Amino acid sequence: MSKTDNSNHDWSELNEQRNYKSLNDGKVLVVAPKGHQDFVVPLFCPLCKNVMKTREDAEKYRDRKMCHHCADHWEKGKEINFASEEWEEYIEGRFLSPPPIINIV
Ligand SMILES: [Zn+2]
Repeated sequence: MSKTDNSNHDWSELNEQRNYKSLNDGKVLVVAPKGHQDFVVPLFCPLCKNVMKTREDAEKYRDRKMCHHCADHWEKGKEINFASEEWEEYIEGRFLSPPPIINIV
């Protein structure tokens, strides 16, 4: 890791409503509302690792921290057994689905 790569630094409190963190040796200051991490939808589903690309994915992520495919398949509150056949079949099916239409430049 290079010296300038400090993007994993924790957020610090700026005031009652906002947190901040500095990046690139303090050249970039990021300010965000507290709790923003709960609203930012990652590019990939934490469960199935497929691309999160639809509004439904974002809505399900905010509710259940997974894409809408996972949320539709896996009952809320049910513990997923990652060693089970059901999981293996599910994840195999997810990767056999058509590739996402997304361009990352
Ligand atoms: Zn998923």
